Amino acid sequence: GSSAESYRRRHEITVTGDNVPPPFTSFEATDFPSEILREVQHAGFSSPTPIQAQSWPIALQSRDIVAIAKTGSGKTLGYLIPCFIHLKRRRNNPQLGPTVLVLSPTRELATQIQDEAMKFGKSSKISCTCLYGGAPKGPQLRELVRGADIVVATPGRLNDILEMRKVSLHQVSYMVLDEADRMLDMGFEPQIRKIMKEVPARRQTLMYTATWPKEVRKIAADLLVNPVQVNIGNVDE
Ligand code: ADP
Ligand code: MG
Repeated sequence: GSSAESYRRRHEITVTGDNVPPPFTSFEATDFPSEILREVQHAGFSSPTPIQAQSWPIALQSRDIVAIAKTGSGKTLGYLIPCFIHLKRRRNNPQLGPTVLVLSPTRELATQIQDEAMKFGKSSKISCTCLYGGAPKGPQLRELVRGADIVVATPGRLNDILEMRKVSLHQVSYMVLDEADRMLDMGFEPQIRKIMKEVPARRQTLMYTATWPKEVRKIAADLLVNPVQVNIGNVDE
């Protein structure tokens, strides 16, 4: 309706796709479980950021998303809160492999995502582990064996661990490519494509990127199915 359109106009949100649901313009407008709302309130957040407001209802419809928004716009919770709700609906035995896989370009970002997942997913009893290079594999493998609902990984290290057959991705049903543009800039495309061959085709895929150059468009076209595209502000190609 028109309130959705005026919210989008005010926040420079453009959407492309069929029957895109209206944004959640406030936390009260969401139907998030109370334990998640409590965490958000505890963090002192007064309202969703525009990327969250628009991508949450789409993600909760189990649709694929490409979200293009600049750094600092709140993209992490944009995909993590729907991920927590997805886990409530279909959580597998974490010891058989993760239900959610998040790919991230660097160790720093991967650990930040893990911190955010632990903080906001604590009362939802989410387990999350992190795989990244430049650190010994042993402790990471031991954490994996204990089991995690969410694995956050850099493509290089995850690929090494897949080759060692120390993790199975056959239960992944919610897949996030965070900072897709940076991962491609860093040369991770071959590893990403190898990893995606191990993830079931029946899944939800969310791609977050700050820019939208043709390399990112190409990989989005290959990995996502009929995605809704959400842009915040001007798109930097
Ligand atoms: P991005 O991934 O787009 O660069 P982040 O997800 O890292 O952005 O979020 C940037 C900062 O904003 C983080 O400190 C995060 O905790 C905070 N943040 C996220 N959502 C909200 C919100 N709804 N209100 C206020 N701050 C928020
Ligand atoms: Mg981010």
